[in-house]
Amino acid sequence: MRRPLVAGNWKMNGSLQQVSALLAALDSLALPDTVDVAVFPSMPHLILAADKLKAIAVGAQDCSVQAGFAAMTGETSATQLKDAGCSLVLVGHSERRELQGETDDVVASKFVAAQSAGLVPVLCVGETLQQREQGKAIETVTEQVEAVIRTAGVDALANSVLAYEPVWAIGTGLTASPEQAQQVHEALRNAVACHSDAVAQGLRIVYGGSVKAASAAELFAQQDIDGGLVGGASLDPDEFGAIIVAAGK
Ligand code: PEP
Repeated sequence: MRRPLVAGNWKMNGSLQQVSALLAALDSLALPDTVDVAVFPSMPHLILAADKLKAIAVGAQDCSVQAGFAAMTGETSATQLKDAGCSLVLVGHSERRELQGETDDVVASKFVAAQSAGLVPVLCVGETLQQREQGKAIETVTEQVEAVIRTAGVDALANSVLAYEPVWAIGTGLTASPEQAQQVHEALRNAVACHSDAVAQGLRIVYGGSVKAASAAELFAQQDIDGGLVGGASLDPDEFGAIIVAAGK
């Protein structure tokens, strides 16, 4: 039985004051003890979040390809994130693949760097609308995962989380239907199972893309959906709380 994870990606949002208020609201939520919960604030807010949150894990939205200290101006290493109180890190979010031109190889290097510093990487994969319309959704996301397996080996996935986030559903209000999402999650699990059935069965694959409290229960009821990676809705503590409750049912 896989334990669900609900994670909030705050992206580049929030002043110190707004984030402090959000952290206080989250810390007072009554969380089901059957769900793991995490938030991914911006870099300047990580230490504060790790300090304030008792039952919610903290992760960063990105890390450097170099795990340790290095002359890399503007970068933050997984070692520094761990030191700041993080336990997780997103790698390969579609906004970084798109805006920063991160390739599968770069994402795989970040995955390895994260694990070598003791962080759990949350590997984000997803197809564009064009790729979906061309019938290439499963091929695209499978290749994104295979690139990490080629670099890190399949056993490395045992200590990671996979996030399926169709690019066309992120921040657009368009959610994949539960059936569309399940189809891709199942295909991803089968692809991993070709390397190791044990790793595939234990791997948490969460869905992301305009998840709301109203859509969460049906998505999370799917056999291969093990929770959610939530963007916009995670900035509202009541909405995020309701999504967490849905994952616990
Ligand atoms: C995300 O960016 O990871 C995400 C899922 O965003 P949203 O929920 O806003 O679509």
